[in-house]
Amino acid sequence: MPARGKEPVAPPEMLLALSPLLAPLRFLSRAGLSRLNTLRELEPLVARAVEAARPFAAARAESLSRLAQAARGFDSAEEPQRRAAVARLVRELSELVPLPGEIAALAAFPEQDAAPAIPEPRAALRAVSLEPPRMPAPAGRGTRAAAAEPEPLATPVERLRGVGPALAERLGARGLATVGDLLLHLPRRYEDRRTPRTVAEAPLGERSLIAGTVVKAQEARGRTRRLEVLVRDAEGGHLVCLWFHFRAALLRRLAPGARVLVSGEVRAGYRGAGKTMHHPDVEPLAGEPGQAQLGDAISQARGAEESFGAVVPVYTEFEGVPPRTYRRIAHRAVEEYLRFVEDRLPPELLARRGLLGLQEALRESHFPKAFADAAARGRPGGEPHRRLAFEELFLVQLGLALKRRGLKVEPGIAFRAEPAALERVEKSLPWPLTSAQKRAVAAIAQDMHKPEPMNRLLQGDVGSGKTAVALCAALIAVEDGYQVAIMAPTEILAEQHARSLRPLLKGTGIHLELLTGGLSQRERAHGDRLVRGGAAQIVVGTHALAEEDTAFHKLGLVVIDEQHRFGVLTRQRLMTKGQRPDTLVMTATPIPRTLALTLYGDLDVSVLDELPPGRTPVQTRVYKDAARGKAYELIRRELGQGRQAYVVLPLVEESEKLADLKAATVERDRLAAEVFPGVPIGLVHGRQASAERNEAMERFRVGKDRILVATTVIEVGVDVPNATVMMIEHAERFGLSQLHQLRGRVGRGAASSHCLLVTGNSGAEWGPVARERLRVMEETSDGFRIAEADLELRGPGEFLGTRQSGLPDFAVAELARDQAILAEAREEAFALVQRDPELSSAGNAQLRDYLFHRWRGRLSLARVG
Ligand code: ADP
Ligand code: MG
Repeated sequence: MPARGKEPVAPPEMLLALSPLLAPLRFLSRAGLSRLNTLRELEPLVARAVEAARPFAAARAESLSRLAQAARGFDSAEEPQRRAAVARLVRELSELVPLPGEIAALAAFPEQDAAPAIPEPRAALRAVSLEPPRMPAPAGRGTRAAAAEPEPLATPVERLRGVGPALAERLGARGLATVGDLLLHLPRRYEDRRTPRTVAEAPLGERSLIAGTVVKAQEARGRTRRLEVLVRDAEGGHLVCLWFHFRAALLRRLAPGARVLVSGEVRAGYRGAGKTMHHPDVEPLAGEPGQAQLGDAISQARGAEESFGAVVPVYTEFEGVPPRTYRRIAHRAVEEYLRFVEDRLPPELLARRGLLGLQEALRESHFPKAFADAAARGRPGGEPHRRLAFEELFLVQLGLALKRRGLKVEPGIAFRAEPAALERVEKSLPWPLTSAQKRAVAAIAQDMHKPEPMNRLLQGDVGSGKTAVALCAALIAVEDGYQVAIMAPTEILAEQHARSLRPLLKGTGIHLELLTGGLSQRERAHGDRLVRGGAAQIVVGTHALAEEDTAFHKLGLVVIDEQHRFGVLTRQRLMTKGQRPDTLVMTATPIPRTLALTLYGDLDVSVLDELPPGRTPVQTRVYKDAARGKAYELIRRELGQGRQAYVVLPLVEESEKLADLKAATVERDRLAAEVFPGVPIGLVHGRQASAERNEAMERFRVGKDRILVATTVIEVGVDVPNATVMMIEHAERFGLSQLHQLRGRVGRGAASSHCLLVTGNSGAEWGPVARERLRVMEETSDGFRIAEADLELRGPGEFLGTRQSGLPDFAVAELARDQAILAEAREEAFALVQRDPELSSAGNAQLRDYLFHRWRGRLSLARVG
């Protein structure tokens, strides 16, 4: 195929935009084409990527269209068509971006001839994430279906000495197919086996290394079968080593008189007498070592350098792979293949930040020598870790920096945002802004005044007054004759916004229009007309705002509430309805700073860290299931004072929504019949039509229903000041941040409010961890502290729900711990993009391709940016 006149280097934004396509293709190349039928929604994935890449396509626009074309109909196609489609997709993709060999090989399927099966790609076709990036293809690289070039790091583990097919299979089952995989599989912790101890010296409860002679070895057949081996050290101390399962070979190696090194945790022996080790690592020793010659003896230990006489790595254990065996394999991989790992970080960057080279960092991570003392403390950390974590975080930040640049290159609207006008706006509000609100408004005004599009995240706890800030921004835009779109994720929320904004706009003559999917056709058409003609200056709505038939007269500002509920596309579509409008994204999810930098690294962030005055904190208490009577008592008391209450039932799996509905209905009926007879109780849940749900919400809002039973569809912004109690069932199943969000539904008025967390009864549900977590809720109402605790207890993946957050799984970095490294990585990444926005200099081009391969689009898919 002739080269289609492409430029040699695609812009980095395009690489990023298309990178989400790598993951499914890599999956196919590794899992085999026979897994084709498991791919879902490839067509929309490709369509999204193509749409995201389009702004950067320039001369490649046609090629992009062909790419989109290749995936059309994929999801409903049969297998042969799917194969052909994948081949075509890969061919088209390779026109646009450099592909790794394993993926390029997927193009080998002949397009005309759809039937014959392709042999399963063998391990040789698999590659690793450290694969050297393909250089941009020379023009006319044939069909680019070039067979995968041999990449040393893609060598199957089987080629390592000592790895047979059985072992290879066990490793493969854990995702360790290639030597590159082995190199990237880092130890969980380390064990100091440098300095041997005598039995007498070895402290109980600690791991020790002990040298000695086998005195006696016998298989005991008591109640349990076990192997008992008595070892005597040079000073005559005795250690009993015990195995509860073992092979005959071990017994042979431990014949009386054999010299051995044993390593393991030293415990008190039977009935507290003497010392024992269970399942120690054993190494036969040559010679007659007294304590003095031990060093020699250790170095003579046959082939044991990776397990003894050093700070040794401890990897995650795999079924059927003894730790010593794994260590030996890892050691071979390091010895023979580490030299093929290429360092993609610019040398001057490494120098500036004092970072190790990649090879050294990997070597030291596996088998610490220079940094043995640091590793001896047990947990990964120290310089090798810093280098690897830095790289990981740097690549993410670099991607974010590039995306942000992509957003900022085109000029946006420069609003006047005059201080006098701002003052007028603030004065028109019924209360003075809190100082946090003032700071946010000032930052927004500054952004809006600049000729580049604003891209700011407004983060604030529930009730911190984000709406007022959004209103100030809106008024800045309206003042200059622009329209404002405020998009909320649900109708209830959109209505809520409209309801709270309208009184604030009274007397300004500004027209606010509400556009939701729930309107009648006539209402909707009328609203659309007002929006198109420009008479509606502030338009509040759901995703209906982003729909095709909604057109604005002059859209200048887009405000998006609760952003991670919207897909990338919805947001982008809304943005295209204006001339690069300014964007303000609001979230009530209290995102810890570290996470915010990772998730929203391409946004500027304002934080409302102060609540408006006059709130009484919600009193939170945890009740065991058995004590729920007390909780009901409290609810009865509040109801008696004319208050209202929520009862929230836990989130269940998507697939169980029917059960969810049933449980909610049953619970409502139970409460009505047995617990609160005569009290009107409403119900909202995820299976209701929105009209029905709105009606139920409305009944509760106006006080007709006194209790509202809700599954977690209970909306984030629902505001019923008279509701003073929230009871949450199975609280242990919720994330802390989610509990905090829910709790924010009460305590909206001046009266004191209560949050009752009821836990399940069983031990598993009410374990110490659950208790610890929920205690945080009792102790604090500070969303940020809760978020930090959540992050610590659950890890970032779970923090926002992995699927939603699209957080990359970090192999090395731990966000909660590596904040300083993240800050450095971010600084470097943003500075680099500032200096070389295209990453086109000779030194950076490699980095750019590497980024493409490592980024994998995970962030770009789930993020809003
Ligand atoms: P959020 O959207 O951040 O959850 P809202 O904007 O809905 O919070 O504000 C919560 C409540 O606080 C609203 O009833 C609002 O009228 C009120 N409010 C907002 N800002 C102030 C302020 N500066 N002083 C007093 N009350 C405020
Ligand atoms: Mg709000």
